[in-house]
Amino acid sequence: MSEETIFDKIIQREIPATIVYEDDLALAFEDINPQAPTHLLIIPKTRIATCNDIDKSQRELVGHLFWVAAQIAKQEGFADAGYRTVMNCNDDGGQTVHHIHLHLLAGKPLGWPPYQERLKQA
Ligand code: 5GP
Repeated sequence: MSEETIFDKIIQREIPATIVYEDDLALAFEDINPQAPTHLLIIPKTRIATCNDIDKSQRELVGHLFWVAAQIAKQEGFADAGYRTVMNCNDDGGQTVHHIHLHLLAGKPLGWPPYQERLKQA
């Protein structure tokens, strides 16, 4: 079992977060360092460290995170305008918290590809 992260503390309400959605499987809350006008993190309540650690039995749970993203998008009114969902994996993917989380970014046209700036600097 992977080590507890800050997200377990948010699930357990040990540290504050602006929670926008919760059900028995998942929690969604505002990212503390938003990269778009709307930047939410959707996490499973079960701790899974990285994408590499998703068990076959958890495929439906991970799909649920995308379903939650779409429900929030519809509820908040940006589903038709569009949004981005991202799940980073390990160092090269930019993962800093080892409890999988789906980033939900919306509210402005988002650049693509996301690595363009880093390539330009290289
Ligand atoms: P990653 O880099 O692992 O894909 O994304 C981790 C995200 O968690 C980052 O966007 C970061 O801003 C966010 N984050 C880190 N610590 C906290 C926290 O204590 N509260 C909240 N709400 N977000 C956090």
